Amino acid sequence: MTRCRLEARVAGVVQGVGFRPFVYTTAVTLGLAGSVRNDTSGAVIEVEGDDRDIGDFLTRLADRPPPLAVIESIETRYIPVTGGTEFTISDSSRSDGARTLASPDVAMCAECAAEQRDPANRRYRHAFINCTNCGPRFTIIASLPYDRSSTAMAGFAMCVDCAREYADPADRRFHAQPVCCPNCGPTVRYRDRDGRETEGGAGLQAARLLLRNGGVLAVKGIGGYHLACDAADEQAVAELRRRKRRGDKPFAVMVPDLGVARVIAVVDDASARVLSGPQRPIVLVPRLPGATVADAVAPHNPDLGVMTAYAPLHALLFGVAGDEPGPTTLVMTSGNLGGEPICFTDDEALDRLSRLADGWLMHNRDILVPCDDSVVRVVDGVELPIRRSRGYAPLPVALPVGLPPTLAVGADLKNTFAVAERKYAWLSQHIGDMDDLATLSAFGSAEHHLEALTGVAPEVVVADSHPGYRSTAWAHRNAGDRPVRTVQHHHAHVAAVMAEHGLDGAKQVLGFAFDGTGYGPDGAVWGGEVLLADYKGYQRRAQLKYVPLAGGDVSVLRPYRMALSHLWAAGLPWDDDLPPVRACPPRERKALAHQLTTGVCSVPTSSMGRLFDAVSALVGVRQVVAYEAQAAIELEGISRDADGGTTRYEFAVDASAAPTVINPAPVLAAIVSDMRAGIRATVIGARFHRAVAELIVDLAGAEDPVPQTIALTGGVFQNALLLRLARNGLVAKGFDVITHRHVPPNDGGIALGQLMVGNAG
Ligand SMILES: [Zn+2]
Ligand SMILES: [Zn+2]
Repeated sequence: MTRCRLEARVAGVVQGVGFRPFVYTTAVTLGLAGSVRNDTSGAVIEVEGDDRDIGDFLTRLADRPPPLAVIESIETRYIPVTGGTEFTISDSSRSDGARTLASPDVAMCAECAAEQRDPANRRYRHAFINCTNCGPRFTIIASLPYDRSSTAMAGFAMCVDCAREYADPADRRFHAQPVCCPNCGPTVRYRDRDGRETEGGAGLQAARLLLRNGGVLAVKGIGGYHLACDAADEQAVAELRRRKRRGDKPFAVMVPDLGVARVIAVVDDASARVLSGPQRPIVLVPRLPGATVADAVAPHNPDLGVMTAYAPLHALLFGVAGDEPGPTTLVMTSGNLGGEPICFTDDEALDRLSRLADGWLMHNRDILVPCDDSVVRVVDGVELPIRRSRGYAPLPVALPVGLPPTLAVGADLKNTFAVAERKYAWLSQHIGDMDDLATLSAFGSAEHHLEALTGVAPEVVVADSHPGYRSTAWAHRNAGDRPVRTVQHHHAHVAAVMAEHGLDGAKQVLGFAFDGTGYGPDGAVWGGEVLLADYKGYQRRAQLKYVPLAGGDVSVLRPYRMALSHLWAAGLPWDDDLPPVRACPPRERKALAHQLTTGVCSVPTSSMGRLFDAVSALVGVRQVVAYEAQAAIELEGISRDADGGTTRYEFAVDASAAPTVINPAPVLAAIVSDMRAGIRATVIGARFHRAVAELIVDLAGAEDPVPQTIALTGGVFQNALLLRLARNGLVAKGFDVITHRHVPPNDGGIALGQLMVGNAG
């Protein structure tokens, strides 16, 4: 037996996740003396004692860290013994610039939930209950290191009982920074339209009564305000939709638990895990027929976006034993007007939501950083991120190669940005569409905060090559002396999926980047691109044949125009029996014909998203959209359970051209012919999805040399039916297929690719 002292430097997500208490307990159990403290790179541990016990300690550190910790590395060295028998948790050193990995917000854990419902517990009905394993993090941290004094809890002094739990290594709340109770923590209050306020439990019951009576309640959550109403109340939902000027865009539904989720939607095991996990995103799941959810929640949509209550306040809103009954499903939509950033301060909520809400459920714990709910789909048991925000941000994404300090500003739609240094990238929360001043200003403050939180001081700025993007303009305005590097949109998509799979870029991948819109270097609107790419560059191997995008955005909002454009390009007549022809008023038809033949007010586009729009219109599913991708989403919805039979639609592929040109004309002709033969839209939709998947497999196989790795990326691959068909087809042919798991396939994931390409030089 030899006494020695060891220093272990632990890097990773180890602050705000109960890591120091875990180290303390482990060391004390093994009879080791020493200390643990946070520093700018993670945690620094010193342990002294028997060398075998120190060995045990290191094994437990690596194998059994707390559930929320992510250990990236442990560096150890022996240092001189100092003696002593105590193990101490030191305060964070706060001398130098913060560089650490902050934790995302974590949903209320099962133990806290049980205490909240237990009349004998001193935190019975406490709206801010939390512990080392759960509670707000990212949204209440002003700066790092993560200590109570640098959070929104700084102004709440712990009472004697909370202080005792906080200081007791055996307690679940040992060193939990936001710990509090009804005696010392924040308080809720309800405010009605006339400004009358009711505090505490009575206020909460007033809010519940408002919901039960069909009113719209603004609720202060973890990352911002929600607007809530009874999801089963057709009138209440319609009224909320009208006030929010929301069109047909689906609302998310919150349920108290998995049991209620299963009453309204098909929840398989994989979806159940995500619905009840620590992140609690909105999960898109098939709606059950006859579910007691108003049709106006998600019109024309076969799916429901469902999340389970994640904040202690949400649980109280659904009620605990002894409360009057209330709604069991609540619409929970971001507290904002369509397109604006989410409200997160009380003043904003009272002002901006004054015409939207009938009452406000507020509290006095500040939200320091706005953060929207995340959205995921589960495809073949695997999470497909649609929006990566609360619960995920700011968890870093490990990079395959080290980068200099870099800022990538992302794209203009569904914006997220990212900073990186060495082998970490930190993606921001969801910022939104960069089309108004409020969002630009939200971008600016989120960027400032993420730099403060990560300590990255970017020396390089990367942006999309679109000359008209507001994000690109922001980069140029704010770069100062730093270089601004621009990256082609679809190249960034392919690089994003490569990076999240840890590819170092030594080998090229064949990337299918299918989306709605991205700027092409030839000035066309790209979006149906097959790129042979690494981080340094790409070769455009194939593209969807250009068709005119007549009148720009107006053809995006009216899919019938895209159908007419595609029919025209395919040489198919605009016969009156076709739904999009009927949907196009005669005068508009005439103007459109003029634009198509002369090319005036038209840009060529190879967009796959627009082809899905055109087919959706052609089969009579959707002629005019109220939100992005609505036509394609509804086409997928009707197609996914249909049997396309043996009939095959085939694209014409002209490989003599460089790049190869994919012509959809034969597919469109076959669709028109099937329509006239009385084949149902569901079957045609299924055949179309299969045709696109088979096209992907054929193009991959036609490459010489045959590539090993195929990347599927771009917003079109949010389509679960297409993703499944394409992936299965490629895997059957022996390809390695990489798809998105950590960042969205849509433009919300593009900043990650920009980081990689912008530094590949
Ligand atoms: Zn807890
Ligand atoms: Zn207390």
